[in-house]
Amino acid sequence: MTKDKTKFSPEFLAKIKAMLLDEKAKLEKELLKFAKKDPNQEDDYSATFPNYGDKEDENAAEVADYVVNLSLEENMEKTLRDVNQSLDRIDKGGYGICKYCHNSIEEKRLLARPTSSSCMTCKKAITQEV
Ligand SMILES: [Zn+2]
Repeated sequence: MTKDKTKFSPEFLAKIKAMLLDEKAKLEKELLKFAKKDPNQEDDYSATFPNYGDKEDENAAEVADYVVNLSLEENMEKTLRDVNQSLDRIDKGGYGICKYCHNSIEEKRLLARPTSSSCMTCKKAITQEV
């Protein structure tokens, strides 16, 4: 027996895994619309600089869109990393454990957000602190 404390059924984990893989595929597809994958590093993308033309307003639009793409890329890359980490934990054990209290996270919460890393009780406690 492993030391995995989670009580999730294989069916539940399979469902979550399918959701995560689906999200991963969507994210990668979206990222490739405005970013290039770094061939040397897994899950690392770089936003590409758009090219609309050489006029001044076109150049300005390029810079403006590039800035938007950069932050978009950063957010999506972070989400992708969370998704991959969750997938990793499903395979190796430890998925769905709250990082604060080490209890299992509510299934309802995981179904709504498969990358959740804290249970509702801890999440609430933290949100109220801020
Ligand atoms: Zn907790």
